[in-house]
Amino acid sequence: MRKRLIIIFILMSLCVAGITALQLYYSYENYRLADRVFKKDANEALLEARDSSIAVHNTGVKDKFRGWMNDTTFIKIRCRYIPEQKTTQFIIKEIKPYRGSGQTEINLSIEEITQRIDTITPEIKKIFIDHMVRTVDDGLKKSTVWFFTQGLGDSLSKAFYKTPIEMTVIDGEYKKALVRRGIDLPFSFEKGPDSIEFCTNEVNMGVDKPRWMKACFTGVDVFLLGKLKWVITGSLLLLIITLACFWYTVRTLLSQHKLARMKDDFISNMTHEIHTPLASLLVTAEALKKFSHDEASRESYIDIILHQGNRLSALTDEILTGARLDKQGIVTGDRINVNELIESVIGENDYGNVVFEPSAEGVTFAGNRFHLGNAIRNLLDNALKYNTHTDPEIRVAVTISGNRLIIIITDNGPGIPDSEKEKVFEQFYRISSGNVHNVKGYGLGLGYVKKVIEAHRGSISIKDNVPGGSLFIIKLPL
Ligand code: ADP
Repeated sequence: MRKRLIIIFILMSLCVAGITALQLYYSYENYRLADRVFKKDANEALLEARDSSIAVHNTGVKDKFRGWMNDTTFIKIRCRYIPEQKTTQFIIKEIKPYRGSGQTEINLSIEEITQRIDTITPEIKKIFIDHMVRTVDDGLKKSTVWFFTQGLGDSLSKAFYKTPIEMTVIDGEYKKALVRRGIDLPFSFEKGPDSIEFCTNEVNMGVDKPRWMKACFTGVDVFLLGKLKWVITGSLLLLIITLACFWYTVRTLLSQHKLARMKDDFISNMTHEIHTPLASLLVTAEALKKFSHDEASRESYIDIILHQGNRLSALTDEILTGARLDKQGIVTGDRINVNELIESVIGENDYGNVVFEPSAEGVTFAGNRFHLGNAIRNLLDNALKYNTHTDPEIRVAVTISGNRLIIIITDNGPGIPDSEKEKVFEQFYRISSGNVHNVKGYGLGLGYVKKVIEAHRGSISIKDNVPGGSLFIIKLPL
């Protein structure tokens, strides 16, 4: 049995260790996956931020271009109908004199206007400028600047190439791209201190010259752990439940093992206890039957039979009282004079040197006389039978404290070690003294006492007597 228990324990430990290792591995893999996804997202977001920042930059350039086209001190727009070509032609002319060589006037027609128009109206001008802005935008998307006239081209080129994309724009666009990916972490485009945990790949943010930029993050670990908190909490919870079940199972197995051992002890003890008086009864009865005896020896044989019969009867009583108590419970309706009850129990047997200190005022208590008497008897029996002292000294004191009745039984025996003070109240439990018990018993006495006291809504505990021995304290509510 013990060997099987050890094997089960080892197997269960292996299982728990395996589950723990798997959970840890699973959590670590989850973390690594989240780390990979984070790095990929941070890189992709930077590329996306580059594209959207350029789009913002282009919009700024487009707006400036529209402003110049509408600026009548800079550009004059006219239109005329060319009958040979059957088209309306627009003429863009710079007003400010342009220093240097280059075209300052350009003629062009657009597909949106096919009808004949000789004078420019604000609506026609707007249609024409919108067309021009679209053309410029298409060019900017391919990093190309259209030079319609030299002055316009120069201004466009300066606005597009020579003005770098603003940092606030890149910062804002990157933040938005990160949030779209569920990343809400502070970052910096500067190359930070060594503590910086992760930097993205470098991305060119320049429109004219190369301008390589990367984003660096701190606190990535904490962020990832925060994202995985439910997975990790779930794993930990499963682990705790598994460990708790393991602990509970082992405890149950051990207590069952202990119970089985205690029952075995009890049965062998009982068999021995029954066997001895029974054998003595049989031998005496046979001797009585076989041989003729004088009156005196007949008497002594009958005394032996009576004595052994009584022993057997007391034994069965002890077992049956406990069993009956479990089955039927206790009726606590008797009016008991506690001082008298204890005195009569002490008087029944020869306990030797028992000192009784009754309570000063007489006290009647509602309880079960039979079981309470038995409980006191059991305690006194134990105080005497386990006492190895040459001069056993037993003391019983009754006091009243508040609305509680307190009965204290002390002896000068070997005492009960602290580790056993709770266990001795378990059924069948006996303090082991190797394999041999010098004092007879079945481990039923204190279990029964505790049940009786608890049925009276009281409590019983054990303390050490000074200088030696045990001290049983019974507290009963009045
Ligand atoms: P048993 O029938 O074996 O006496 P009990 O339930 O009455 O069973 O007692 C349980 C154990 O507690 C005993 O085996 C004994 O070792 C210990 N015990 C009980 N009372 C005393 C006492 N007064 N002094 C020392 N040990 C005691």
